[in-house]
Amino acid sequence: MKFAKLLIPFMFASPLVLADQVATLEQEEVPFHRAAFDLLKQSIPMQTVPGKGEVPRYAALIKENLLSAGFSDKDVQIIPYKDTAAMLIRYRGDGSSGKKPILFSAHLDVVPADSDDWERDPFTLIEDDTFYYGRGTSDNKFDVAVITATFMRLKSEGFVPNRDLVIAFTGDEETDMATTMMLTRDYRDEIDAEYAFVIDGGGGLLDDNGNATQFIVNSAEKTYATFTVTARNPGGHSSVPRQDNAIYDLAQALQKLDAYEFPVRYNELTLSYFKQAAQFEGGELGAAMLTFADDTTNKEALAKLRSEPTMIGNTGTTCVPTMLDAGHAENALPQSATATINCRIFPGVSVEETLARLQRVMDNPALEWKTLGEPIASDASPLLPEVFAAIEKNIRVDYPAIPVVPKMAPGASDALHFRAAGIPSYTMTGIFLRPEDEMSHGLNERVTKFSLPRSLTLWHNMIKTLASDTAN
Ligand SMILES: [Zn+2]
Repeated sequence: MKFAKLLIPFMFASPLVLADQVATLEQEEVPFHRAAFDLLKQSIPMQTVPGKGEVPRYAALIKENLLSAGFSDKDVQIIPYKDTAAMLIRYRGDGSSGKKPILFSAHLDVVPADSDDWERDPFTLIEDDTFYYGRGTSDNKFDVAVITATFMRLKSEGFVPNRDLVIAFTGDEETDMATTMMLTRDYRDEIDAEYAFVIDGGGGLLDDNGNATQFIVNSAEKTYATFTVTARNPGGHSSVPRQDNAIYDLAQALQKLDAYEFPVRYNELTLSYFKQAAQFEGGELGAAMLTFADDTTNKEALAKLRSEPTMIGNTGTTCVPTMLDAGHAENALPQSATATINCRIFPGVSVEETLARLQRVMDNPALEWKTLGEPIASDASPLLPEVFAAIEKNIRVDYPAIPVVPKMAPGASDALHFRAAGIPSYTMTGIFLRPEDEMSHGLNERVTKFSLPRSLTLWHNMIKTLASDTAN
């Protein structure tokens, strides 16, 4: 019962989660709180996992909600794709700002969940005093409900934005991202935007007392690329070993990779992250973050950062061997030896450049190289002042002292494809969680209940700031 122990300080010591300080569903102090909750609750039982074909039903539910709030049929498109679907929702503005639209994105699919492993049924929304539980509560049906309800609320208020607002809901973010690529390829004009908010990840962190400590906005992702490298040999009987051997050849090449230091890389985003996040780290690591942010040639600071698994990726590309496959019989000389090398490439560095570097470092022209799949590189998004000023202003309505920390995400999301299509993208959610309660993709996925009204307020105010002339 590790969880019960944690819940006590969280519920009673924290001013953030006390019921009288948070709008309740019953009182509906935040308009459309009930609508967002109902949409979330109705969506959890829809098993929008690969192969079940439930995404179109979920999309139809969202559409029904939007039409009831006054959106026209032609502005709420469901675009079928194999057994899933994407959605494009346009909130028409008066165009008075002369600015391009703002894109909002989230995904309708979830990763599978096995009821036998969960404490509660993953496909029923279950709540206690603090959390809503269920598959998709944090990733990503909560945010789908919030942005949908926010559009409904603004429409009901008669709000006319000074630029168009577009929602793109994707249908297979957790697997192939084929619906995202369909949107960036076949619907490029319809998703065209000055920038995008990918409402899936980032967001607020809480400490054990329920105090908000930082608000993260992911503004870049590393490029995921996997290569295989193979040494070949004629082989033969192991009782008569040859001078050359595929396993030795591959092992020697891998040792060269082990000894290699990838070049130092940094950008506006990683340096600003080091400066902001140093205060939460403290100690030697915090000091190294500050030193490196001031002087990227400082070797000691770099060595300290690179000794930390969670920090090394912020200082450059990383490539590590993850799998080996060699030989075919215990008494035969190996005819081939293959290593799989997984790279997380720093924004701005190409996949080809990285492969060429690996080939140089491992320095054996006889090795055969392959790139797996089709890795897509994306640059870091600029820290647009308009975007970050709006976040700082509106996040402080509920969290007055919180630092907004731009960050590079270690994993891939839909934002990768929007960036690759030339749309700067910022990943953030209004969800506040303790890191140990972040159970996306895992068992007993949950979201803090107080995050629902607060997220509704955040996105409502964000849109008012970014798409109207009168400040909210
Ligand atoms: Zn997600």
